[in-house]
Amino acid sequence: MAEPIIKIENIHKNFGRVQALRGVSLNVEAGEVVVIIGPSGSGKSTLLRCINRLEEYNSGKITVDGIPLDTTQNINAVRREVGMVFQSFNLFSHLSVLDNLVLAQRQVRKRNKAEAEDTARQLLKKVGIPEKENAYPGQLSGGQQQRVAIARALAMNPKVMLFDEPTSALDPEMIKEVLDVMTNLASEGMTMVVVSHEMGFARAAANRMIFMDEGLIVETATPHDFFTNPQQERSRAFLSKVL
Ligand code: ADP
Ligand code: MG
Repeated sequence: MAEPIIKIENIHKNFGRVQALRGVSLNVEAGEVVVIIGPSGSGKSTLLRCINRLEEYNSGKITVDGIPLDTTQNINAVRREVGMVFQSFNLFSHLSVLDNLVLAQRQVRKRNKAEAEDTARQLLKKVGIPEKENAYPGQLSGGQQQRVAIARALAMNPKVMLFDEPTSALDPEMIKEVLDVMTNLASEGMTMVVVSHEMGFARAAANRMIFMDEGLIVETATPHDFFTNPQQERSRAFLSKVL
């Protein structure tokens, strides 16, 4: 079998006295979609942020696409391969949608203007808002802004996409348009690690569910098994609240 594209081995992360991660290990295969759920404060965001080293960890080892997160050079190499989408869209408000998509391609990927704009337009089409290239983020709905944020991450041709509660700041009528983009991405074979409590999305797109609590992975299962027959008391209690 091929090496997992993400290898997380026994990660511990403390914030002062708070033990955010208490020994988390997880392998993600290329093309796999892993959905992480769990109560607030269970370490989900911290785990995602460790994967591209937005957060330093105290011990353990993470390897992405064969590159260990150790030297600065390696960390930068991993960051180029990993796209991240947050709850808050984090677009540059003073730049047009097109320029938001062009900027990092020029700076990080060293693409010329025409090439970067071409990629940007293709991606705006892919996320369903080709007509918005000249708009500014403030002129877009939350759902549109989040789709721009996804397109911006994809513009870097990432091998892995991390999503941290990408729809939890959105009004209900906008959630679906973002989840549809993510579902399409999943069906195209993108490797995705998604923190989300959107159970419909999880059922449709996840290969694997991970339930976290108090800094640990408590249960791992297929969506079918997880939703119909959770094994752990804590998973059952959590599901009874979110379903
Ligand atoms: P989740 O995403 O599951 O809600 P987090 O990973 O954000 O959980 O947080 C896990 C724990 O780490 C929580 O107790 C949280 O308060 C703490 N924590 C997270 N980030 C920080 C930080 N920057 N400084 C101090 N404590 C933090
Ligand atoms: Mg979080």
